Amino acid sequence: MAMKLYNTLTRKKEIFKPIKEAHAALYTCGPTVYNYQHAGNYRTYIFEDVLRRALERAGYAVTHVMNITDVGHLTSDADTGEDKLEKGAAREGKTVWDVARFYTDAFLQDIEKLNIRVADHLVPATQEIAAQIEIIEALFKKGYAYQTSSAMYFDVSKFKDYGALSGQKLEEKKTAARGDVVEDMEKKNPADFALWFFTIGKYKDHVMRWPSVWGEGFPGWHIECSAISTKYLGQPFDIHAGGVDHISVHHTNEIAQSEAAYGKPLARYWMHGEFLLINTAKMAKSAGNFYTLATLAEEGFSPLAFRYLVLTAHYRSQMNFTWESMAAASRSLERLYATVQSLKDVKKATILHYRGLTSIVEKFDAAVADDLNMPKALAVIWDIVSAYHKNPDHFDAKALLTVLYDFDTILGLGLRDIKKEPIPAEVKSIVAEREEARRQKDWAKSDGLREKIKALGYLVKDTPEGAEVARVP
Ligand code: AMP
Ligand code: ZN
Repeated sequence: MAMKLYNTLTRKKEIFKPIKEAHAALYTCGPTVYNYQHAGNYRTYIFEDVLRRALERAGYAVTHVMNITDVGHLTSDADTGEDKLEKGAAREGKTVWDVARFYTDAFLQDIEKLNIRVADHLVPATQEIAAQIEIIEALFKKGYAYQTSSAMYFDVSKFKDYGALSGQKLEEKKTAARGDVVEDMEKKNPADFALWFFTIGKYKDHVMRWPSVWGEGFPGWHIECSAISTKYLGQPFDIHAGGVDHISVHHTNEIAQSEAAYGKPLARYWMHGEFLLINTAKMAKSAGNFYTLATLAEEGFSPLAFRYLVLTAHYRSQMNFTWESMAAASRSLERLYATVQSLKDVKKATILHYRGLTSIVEKFDAAVADDLNMPKALAVIWDIVSAYHKNPDHFDAKALLTVLYDFDTILGLGLRDIKKEPIPAEVKSIVAEREEARRQKDWAKSDGLREKIKALGYLVKDTPEGAEVARVP
């Protein structure tokens, strides 16, 4: 089925047509590893993971590249302030390299728990300095870059399509950039952005530094994504994704420098995930209003319950995080797990066959192919799950289970991995008591005990082989 994806560049949904047949080259901006990533960051990575899985299910071989920002990302996206990594090192009394390693590992552990697959190439910016210098050299040769006493800059006034991604005019951008106080006075245009900082002046003690023909220094933030994406995927490549906050600065600058250097587009489809909010404000480390996976665990929520929550909203809609919605998502996931477990427990062969499974698969695929409409895809699943609970005997349990497992290749909710929980001892003893009451034909007592079992979250079913106990789905 053809996939339709919303392209920020053209502002419309387009049918995805890859450059190389049956292949999709995907680049996604990775974490800045100076601190833990928060639930907002993970919302974006889950959207990108769903995108990758959906492309694969649609038959594309995906090459996924992600950078790790371990140098050059300043505390303000507008090239002012401190390097976030150096700041993290000072805060923790560690070296920048240790900080980068620690938070890269933390990121990898988190994404494993969230069932987010690791990129085929996960590339730290500090490992690709030569590739970054190469682009800056090309820009310099073509007259797009210039040097001041503190940095090398990209001259935005030379690039005629600057701002096409955001639709923001350069004039508006100038006004916005003027708000920054610590600007380099030697910049030609306020919106010019740094390609390379020299380790002099306020950066004289910067630990991460490399030689270059222009002088010792370190790369600006945007150049790493241009260099890494093109090195591993070519130029142009198919899809570039990230959070919406990257549209007006980071991705706009990536496009400007890559296209100016090599005279061809950087990527064909630009996709952006909307924010996760708390009380209508963007979840952000800098604002201090954020939750990590550890915060969620303290409140009793699993990473996959958070993944489920993310799937309940379309990736292009803002989502407000509340503990109530988190709890509801967790309950829904438990119900889905209980359904899968009950399907696994069905032993007898089914006589009747539900004929709707093919159309369910079609509906699910159509929702996913429509710009990753995961809320709709989930609704399709709940329709079939409730139909099953109403009339379990009308279903071929094995076939339905296969369909749910198949859907989970995109959902990533770990449906195949659920383990049957042991029935708690308390429940078991009430069940035994009830069996005894039934033997004595004390139906009132037996019914009362059934309710007691239900209140503990379990259902008891009487079969010729004795009582069967399962969790309430
Ligand atoms: P960073 O580590 O700040 O470079 O961000 C990593 C990714 O998370 C980027 O793609 C950001 O656009 C994205 N991001 C940051 N904050 C949020 C948020 N509140 N909601 C969704 N995505 C976010
Ligand atoms: Zn990037």
